[in-house]
Amino acid sequence: MNKMDKVKTSEDYVKALKKLKPNVITDKLLTKPYENEDIIKGMNVVSTCYNYAKDPEYSELMTADSSLSGNRVNRYNYIPRTKDDLRKRIKMVHALARETICAQRCVGGDALWALYIGTFQLDKSNKGKTNYHKRLKKYLEYVQDNDIAPAGAVTDAKGDRSISPADQEDKDTYVHIVKKTDDGIYVSGIKTPITMSIYAEELIVMPSMQLSENDKSCAVSFAIQADAEGIERYALGPEIKTLEGEHAPTHGRKYLNKEGMIIFNNVFVPNERIFQCEEHRYGAIYANLFATLHRFSYLACKPALYDIMTGAAMLISDFNGTKGEYFLSNTAEKIFQIAKPAILSRGMAKAAIEESTITESGAILPDEVFTNMGKYMATDNFPNAVSVLQDMSGSLPVNLPYEGVLKDKKYNEKVEKLFKRKKGITPEQHYKLNEFIRVLVASSEGGLLQFGSKHGGGNKEAEKVAIYGNNLRHMFQCKKLVKEIVFNSN
Ligand SMILES: Cc1cc2nc3c(=O)[nH]c(=O)nc-3n(C[C@H](O)[C@H](O)[C@H](O)COP(=O)(O)OP(=O)(O)OC[C@H]3O[C@@H](n4cnc5c(N)ncnc54)[C@H](O)[C@@H]3O)c2cc1C
Repeated sequence: MNKMDKVKTSEDYVKALKKLKPNVITDKLLTKPYENEDIIKGMNVVSTCYNYAKDPEYSELMTADSSLSGNRVNRYNYIPRTKDDLRKRIKMVHALARETICAQRCVGGDALWALYIGTFQLDKSNKGKTNYHKRLKKYLEYVQDNDIAPAGAVTDAKGDRSISPADQEDKDTYVHIVKKTDDGIYVSGIKTPITMSIYAEELIVMPSMQLSENDKSCAVSFAIQADAEGIERYALGPEIKTLEGEHAPTHGRKYLNKEGMIIFNNVFVPNERIFQCEEHRYGAIYANLFATLHRFSYLACKPALYDIMTGAAMLISDFNGTKGEYFLSNTAEKIFQIAKPAILSRGMAKAAIEESTITESGAILPDEVFTNMGKYMATDNFPNAVSVLQDMSGSLPVNLPYEGVLKDKKYNEKVEKLFKRKKGITPEQHYKLNEFIRVLVASSEGGLLQFGSKHGGGNKEAEKVAIYGNNLRHMFQCKKLVKEIVFNSN
């Protein structure tokens, strides 16, 4: 195969966005969404995936040779086939998340990976009557060769959680097929919250849950250009106006997680971009595949976040002089509480890779029990880590004077006394560190990280179901073993 470099620059990514028809809404339709301050901060995160791919230090990690074309493509659009691919994916996400906290591009990449495996299974169960896998491969090649960073739209608005999609009063609470024609389908409904959807060129849509025969109109997967006729994209979350200061951390001043809601108003999807159409049994299969693969990504980004929190805890302790040999000697234990889940998730990632299996599609699948357990532990420990860092920092992160007084001669000498700590630490350094901690654990951005850790990739209940489902046979063997030990031993 003739190998070509298909990795684009972040400038190309922004240029491609600017060509899209405007359909992004804040409280009004933005005619130039990619000049909006908050949206630019989100785009900066995605740009990092492109910049790293061009950086000689990271390019080997960030890119791979496509198994479809042989071209050099961004690793996010490359379907992992070997254990080494899984290791590199983890390293890639970890490297990016250390800079941007959430790399954002994982969701779309994981959706492509899930559909690669899922479409193969679906065609096989349809005994060759469908050709979804072939379509997916063609679409994947298009995404790879144009280095597109698609958003992954899985979660529906869902309405009343106690009733099925078919029984909802408003059918649009789930994305569903409205009409079928010879050329394709028309879809309506809501997917939310969808990371990077307001600054993505393409959207990959798939079902979020188990579906019955009655729900078959919601059993639909497809890819669509983000500005297709009938699509509206709403920016979600508060406007971040406070993170402008010179002492504000990169996360907030330069980078931001900006979520989006996608509304489909009778949108046409051509046949070649449809990867599931009414096969309701594959609602759960696709959703579970996506969940496993996306949770695997969490085994890279969450350790990065814990690393950042560990570093912050160690620094604030240094600055404040609370490393403590006397009554504050439990500092070591506190830092251990933050560092522990990073080690646990990293270990689970290694186990998930070691026990991974190659699917019939040729794509590799990390072990489901270790992946889900790793994500579960990363999530379960997060509130404690946040609480420990808040405890270690004292009240200052949420009680900082306005940055301006530090520069005003009338006030600065007096105010600087507030920041007097260890010799050699300047007031600016202390201010910056406290502002960084505030953003991590006491801001709307920090709140988003906490919610993301709880719900992103599904919540803890869903992880437990996956762990039980895949580990039950082993657990029954445990019961049998104890029966033998207790009742049958001589
Ligand atoms: C920061 C962030 C980024 C995200 N990015 C994406 C993305 O890019 N793409 C995407 O597709 N999704 C994304 N999500 C969505 C995420 O997958 C969902 O938030 C998650 O699946 C939970 O769904 P929900 O928010 O509707 O909460 P709910 O499902 O309403 O859950 C709320 C609570 O209700 C419980 N519950 C739910 N149903 C029932 C029931 N029937 N009976 C009893 N209890 C129930 C749950 O266990 C949970 O405790 C993101 C979420 C966050 C927070």
